[in-house]
Amino acid sequence: MKLSVVDTHAHLDMAHFNKDRSEVIARALDSGVKTIVTVGLDLASSQKAIKLAENHPEVLASVGFHPHEAARVKEADITALAEIASHPKVIAIGETGLDFYRNRSPREAQLPVLKWQLELAMKLDLPVVIHSRQADRDMLALLRDWTSCHKRPNRKPTGVIHCFNGDMSTAQQYLDMGFFISLGAYIGYPASLHMHPVIRSLPGDRLVVETDCPYLPPQKYRGKRNEPAYLPLTVRLLAGIRKVSPETLAEETTQNAGKLFSLALK
Ligand SMILES: [Zn+2]
Repeated sequence: MKLSVVDTHAHLDMAHFNKDRSEVIARALDSGVKTIVTVGLDLASSQKAIKLAENHPEVLASVGFHPHEAARVKEADITALAEIASHPKVIAIGETGLDFYRNRSPREAQLPVLKWQLELAMKLDLPVVIHSRQADRDMLALLRDWTSCHKRPNRKPTGVIHCFNGDMSTAQQYLDMGFFISLGAYIGYPASLHMHPVIRSLPGDRLVVETDCPYLPPQKYRGKRNEPAYLPLTVRLLAGIRKVSPETLAEETTQNAGKLFSLALK
């Protein structure tokens, strides 16, 4: 049976999809992916994400500056980001965050760029899409400050930790701050086996799924391009790990994505 799912994190604007973007989106819909959030990495990529969302009813956009881009971002760029974020199909700010693994931008540049985007998200009352790689300690401290000002009734959810790969105590701290946890096909890689107990312990009402395509394809497609049509494979895999039915997991993660991004999902 076809599962109905939401891909909460894709990079459909990337050059990897230049030759067959429309076919990729059509294949996703065919496979049961009913909504795709395409996530910008800088201003140009965020603008492309919005264009895609304008042209495809099932695509939504998140706009932001990835930590890899941080060295090139000035405070004025955040004003430009704020302008495009007012588009009706923009549902989140990000991908933003900290990446102390690759350090493609120096740490000193990553921190302010993340803070500016957190402030913007709060101002616009949009959730944030967080990338955190080998940076959970700094990230948790920063987000704790941010969420302490964020606690107002009727505020939308704080955001999502994308491609989560930490331990349960880290997950619990993000959950306590109101974040959703997003998992992708990498949970099926041999190197992720140790995460399975954590994956089983995450609360079902705070989990969402993603492809992060073109990156991180399912194990059987490793070395190839990932695409949203593969997301149902991840939902089945995750259901197996959590010992629930794929239908239940698809339904739960769809509901959660709806809450996270304040979507009116049928
Ligand atoms: Zn991403």
